Amino acid sequence: MNITDIPLEITTTKSSKINQVDFENLSFGMHNSDHMMYCDYADGKWQTPKIVPYGPMEFEPSAKVFHYGQAVFEGMKAFKDDEGRVWLFRPDQNFERINTSSKRLAIPEFPKDIFFTSLKKLLEIDQNWIKKGEGNSLYIRPFVIATENGVSASESSQYRFMIITCPSQAYYNKPIKVIFAQEFSRAADGGVGYAKAAGNYAAQFYPTQLAKAKGLDQIIWTDASSHEYLEEAGTMNIFFRIGDKLLTAPTNDRILDGVTRKSIIQLAKDHNIDITVDKVSVKEIVNAAKNGELKEIFGTGTAATVVRIEGFEHDGVYHELPNLESSYGSFFKTTLQDIQYNRAEDKHGWTMQAF
Ligand SMILES: *Cc1c(COP(=O)(O)O)cnc(C)c1O
Repeated sequence: MNITDIPLEITTTKSSKINQVDFENLSFGMHNSDHMMYCDYADGKWQTPKIVPYGPMEFEPSAKVFHYGQAVFEGMKAFKDDEGRVWLFRPDQNFERINTSSKRLAIPEFPKDIFFTSLKKLLEIDQNWIKKGEGNSLYIRPFVIATENGVSASESSQYRFMIITCPSQAYYNKPIKVIFAQEFSRAADGGVGYAKAAGNYAAQFYPTQLAKAKGLDQIIWTDASSHEYLEEAGTMNIFFRIGDKLLTAPTNDRILDGVTRKSIIQLAKDHNIDITVDKVSVKEIVNAAKNGELKEIFGTGTAATVVRIEGFEHDGVYHELPNLESSYGSFFKTTLQDIQYNRAEDKHGWTMQAF
């Protein structure tokens, strides 16, 4: 089907909120742009998608999402280049991943043509919310929830797919302190760790509160059965540098297959950086920290791109990492952003022009 054949009902706002937003001082996720998209699943099929002014929606208290947590989401960004063109970074990956997540949670998959037609239209309508300049972007949050009423414990027959967006600023992301998980687990074999399921986040908040009470920011999750292998940070994938060798864990059914992660693995190969994708043992990292070979640890994800980890706690001991002048982390961040803002050659065909 041709993209222009997709019916799309559009109602634009009569009063834009854009002048109420201080784009110089944004706190992430606190402002939504003027419009949102939604599309209902009923009678066994996805109905006509709608773009409407952003605002509250009504659901019955018995809607299944509130009881059984059938909800998945995505996170992606739109970037504006100096000429005012708007670019998406590997959006095909996010589209495929939301359907991978949906499938695991028994949610019907969403059609590709509706996704891209309505997303591009939404961005065009709210294009003034996308600011030029380093680090500025529009964060895009597609998600699906189960909307059928009735508290019987079964999968829903009705769903709502939505896309909301919020302006996001170049913020100085400060380095974080982490703890390697030894008690709690984020995901188990055969579970939903590889899905961007809302419930994976709910389950992390309590252990993260405990970590915060100890002055740490986040948890690096380990494999649930032995806690001997480092997996991911729960909102970010994770890379370790020992000497000049970069290490990251392979994806499995406990780990989210991050777009930033796979892009950095490719960039490492492009730039002849020695990268190994293999199980990373806690023992190896602790030993490297002790003998001074552990140069950096960084997390990767769409929201912050790359975040430096300044130290980690394990077995009650805090290990501090050096703060390198020229780190792999900052190299990858710059290299990736140059592609995202259409300033560098996109030799892997990662970017897609929205309009
Ligand atoms: C979204 C997410 C990431 C990062 O994925 P990106 O595609 O790079 O944004 C990593 N881990 C988890 C658990 C996530 O939900």
